[in-house]
Amino acid sequence: MEDCVFCKIVNGDIPSAKVYEDDTVLAFKDLDPQAPTHLLVIPKQHVRSLAEIDASNSAVVAHIAEVIAKLAKDLDLKDGFRVVSNCGDSAGQSVKHLHFHLLAGREFTWPAG
Ligand code: 5GP
Ligand code: ZN
Repeated sequence: MEDCVFCKIVNGDIPSAKVYEDDTVLAFKDLDPQAPTHLLVIPKQHVRSLAEIDASNSAVVAHIAEVIAKLAKDLDLKDGFRVVSNCGDSAGQSVKHLHFHLLAGREFTWPAG
């Protein structure tokens, strides 16, 4: 996807602070962190959002869940963490490439405002 900032990060056209990478998934630090730990975990394949997940591409979402669990362990997030995926404009999705925010290191309110 030519104009997708996260595809550009996957391709190395835009630099990022990578914390995890394998064949299908990349995790890197958010440019504008909202918590002491704020990572974005994305599929390397361009998928617009969770609304486009079906049986043909859901395996990568399961794999992302495994990666998040591994990151939580490796980063010692034992006090807790929050995972958020904004889906669509009213939810505030600004980058139209599926991503999961992994947030930790402070208290979080609920419901999220
Ligand atoms: P959304 O608002 O779509 O849920 O989240 C997009 C996130 O991507 C935001 O938290 C924003 O700070 C982050 N972001 C946008 N552009 C870049 C970039 O070029 N590099 C990095 N590391 N994060 C970005
Ligand atoms: Zn993309």
